[in-house]
Amino acid sequence: MKPKLPADPQTCPHCYVGRIQQSSITYTAIISGKLLSVPDFPVWRCDVCHAYVYDPIAIGQLQASLSAHQKAILDEKARRTSRKTASS
Ligand SMILES: [Zn+2]
Repeated sequence: MKPKLPADPQTCPHCYVGRIQQSSITYTAIISGKLLSVPDFPVWRCDVCHAYVYDPIAIGQLQASLSAHQKAILDEKARRTSRKTASS
């Protein structure tokens, strides 16, 4: 079994050379065809390869709030499909 993170949490899990430091990004994802943008989303960023891993706690919180959001998005989507207009 491959561990997700090395024993030393300061070491980058991608290159095993750099060190990861807490940083923040604007997290973006497409959820049900809709762009989701979360500013100041906490991540751990490597100072060598610049790879980053999302903060697992923050991801958990995001997913919890997403399930509520997704319900609202699906409701909106259902409304939109009823008035399909060809906009260019
Ligand atoms: Zn790295």
